[in-house]
Amino acid sequence: MYLLWGSIVSNNNKDDIIKRMAEFLRRGSTLTNLSCPACGSPLFRLKDQTLWCVKDEKKVIVKKRGTEDKKTNNTTYDKIEETLLSKVNKLQNRIENTENTDELQKLTSALSEILTTLEKINKMKMK
Ligand SMILES: [Zn+2]
Repeated sequence: MYLLWGSIVSNNNKDDIIKRMAEFLRRGSTLTNLSCPACGSPLFRLKDQTLWCVKDEKKVIVKKRGTEDKKTNNTTYDKIEETLLSKVNKLQNRIENTENTDELQKLTSALSEILTTLEKINKMKMK
């Protein structure tokens, strides 16, 4: 039991998270520009509109921020985030449509880099 937990919480599961994220995208969930309040990972919107943190494997409820909160200097980050999210959408389409394993691997690793960057941006925004 101890060993099992050790392997679940080890840092080596980063690739697993990316794989799970890719799987969510393949199943038609969409990546949102919202981030998990607990870990900063980008959140997915499932088909039933639930917001989901793949990293924590749990449903997340994000309170809608009023526009007045947006005064903080997040504009640059927001723009980068928007660009990255549009790339994710394109990747998502390709991931959904490819049956080619090599291509899937390439798409997934591109996705992985984008998701890592998004996570970093979200963490900076939370500061
Ligand atoms: Zn989380």
